[in-house]
Amino acid sequence: MLEVINPATEGVLERLEPATAEDADAAVALAKAAFPKWRAVEPADRSRLLHRLADALESEKEHLAQLESQNVGKPISAARGEMGMVVDTFRYYAGAPERLLGDTIPVTGGVNMTFREALGVVALIVPWNFPLTIASWKLAPALVAGNTVVLKPAELTPLTAMEFGRIALEAGIPEGVVNVVVGPGSAVGRRLTEHPDVAKVAFTGSTEVGKGIMAGAAGTIKRVTLELGGKSANVVFADADLERAAASAPDGVFDNAGQDCCARSRILVERSVFDEFLSLMEPAVKGFRVGNPLDKDTQMGPLVSAGHREKVASYVPEDAPVAIRGSVPDGKGYWFPPTVLAPVSHDDRVATEEIFGPVAVVIPFEDEADAIRLANDTVYGLSGSIWTENAARALRVARRIETGVLSVNSNTSVRVATPFGGFKQSGVGRELGPHALDYYTELKSVYVATEEG
Ligand code: NAP
Ligand code: MG
Repeated sequence: MLEVINPATEGVLERLEPATAEDADAAVALAKAAFPKWRAVEPADRSRLLHRLADALESEKEHLAQLESQNVGKPISAARGEMGMVVDTFRYYAGAPERLLGDTIPVTGGVNMTFREALGVVALIVPWNFPLTIASWKLAPALVAGNTVVLKPAELTPLTAMEFGRIALEAGIPEGVVNVVVGPGSAVGRRLTEHPDVAKVAFTGSTEVGKGIMAGAAGTIKRVTLELGGKSANVVFADADLERAAASAPDGVFDNAGQDCCARSRILVERSVFDEFLSLMEPAVKGFRVGNPLDKDTQMGPLVSAGHREKVASYVPEDAPVAIRGSVPDGKGYWFPPTVLAPVSHDDRVATEEIFGPVAVVIPFEDEADAIRLANDTVYGLSGSIWTENAARALRVARRIETGVLSVNSNTSVRVATPFGGFKQSGVGRELGPHALDYYTELKSVYVATEEG
């Protein structure tokens, strides 16, 4: 029996019979059978259905936010924001079926045109940190392009995905187009990755599992998009608005209890302002409100599971160089305090591995070249920030940092209308924005001869 736990209370939210590899096969068969009809739905009708689905999700936003908050342990204010993004993501893509345009290309002897064709059955494998949000980034573009899907949520957090399956059916999405399978990655996820009738796997999760997905997909030359881990840099120059940068840095790491692939968990600070920056950061770290996720003022909840807390704690042993530490509530729940480690060497384990918890390291740099070198000194390349009042420097450094997403004088990076994804071992492909549709379609070129010979 799979017990779905509330990490803030350690209580059981639901008991489920986990799916097996055979259940994954059955879901793929349903998706495969539904594909020809779904692909043939007139673009305007598909668009209308997607708008209706967005409306249905909007009307259940509060219910979904409550579920997500309880299952992940995330603050209700954050969960509400995320469900808003889920709705916005469906709205953003809902008009796309009529805008899957091709090209006409001048060629000798005839006319050449291109089409964007649906792939077929797409498997969507998602993690536990932003369960429905990350699923929606895959579901919306996959469905508008005419694909059918099998969604596998993380076993720790399946509740909103299951509700999504119900809501999609109620909104009129035909049976078989959206299938949700709740079971372990090692059985269900693996089977979907290797299944000959699955055309593509869209995966978000750890780099380690991502490598296995890529290898497993090779057997059938599946398309893959991978959104993987990160160890992003928050680069603070001495000429920055230090107060703003220091007030925002904690949120850049501790948001979602640090269980965020975009976490700016390596704070790089120009040496001349290093001590000043740490003191400016202290009140924001100590004042971080950690507690009951259902309280609307809570900024940070517990970690997602006991096992994950153990992993995070292993990075902060007794003798760790803790510079600032926040507080946590007493009693049940997988709590871990906001923690800032400094000074830390750039090649220390805490500075190179993704901790995926509320732990930041602060590292000094000497000059612009040193900042760029340190920012790029990682196998990852997902996000990052640059704080400076010098506009030319901001752009110069932004062009040199090897990551998919960057912000200047801000610690946010994810927007529905802009591309999201990683360089290096942070992934392959892009989600969100207009480009995501390219990853859920196959480009076809058709030549029509109009001249004889
Ligand atoms: P994970 O362990 O890689 O799991 C992700 C998903 O893959 C889960 O649904 C998991 O299922 C499944 N899975 C596990 N083993 C599998 C296998 N052999 N074959 C197929 N699927 C398998 O990641 P996580 O612990 O849930 O999430 C944390 C990681 O996600 C972090 O590294 C984080 O950086 C990354 N992440 C990246 C992004 C991004 O957009 N770049 C966003 C969020 C998170 P079960 O858990 O049910 O077994
Ligand atoms: Mg995992």
